[in-house]
Amino acid sequence: MTPGVIDNSLEGDVAKACINHKDAPAATMCHQCHVPVCRSCTTLTPHGSFCSSECSIQHREFGEKLRSGEAKAAGGGLALKLFLGLLVLVGALATIHVAARRGIRPAARIDLIGFLLQKVGGLAPGPTR
Ligand SMILES: [Zn+2]
Ligand SMILES: [Zn+2]
Repeated sequence: MTPGVIDNSLEGDVAKACINHKDAPAATMCHQCHVPVCRSCTTLTPHGSFCSSECSIQHREFGEKLRSGEAKAAGGGLALKLFLGLLVLVGALATIHVAARRGIRPAARIDLIGFLLQKVGGLAPGPTR
């Protein structure tokens, strides 16, 4: 016995009847709404076959939306990389500052945070006048 072969062909005939002509076998499936359509109902376009011109337009608009969405996602990825780079930089500066406060001289020389804190302290003499 070969299970599935006969059943599959039967199911295929039932499932793949044209939505407009129930006794006509479907030649293809609409790329947009996935309904089976016979050869005379098929609208052929460079993007694929559809049940109607409306579906082909919808499919094209959906594709354009998808492409713009991908472009946005790529931009977001770049922003995330920049943010992570900044985070690493701030982390490195903080490490240098901590080392400088512990009296490590090479760190004190490149301690940007300590330098900035000194500058801010010098510029702001306090509330007393
Ligand atoms: Zn369709
Ligand atoms: Zn048809």
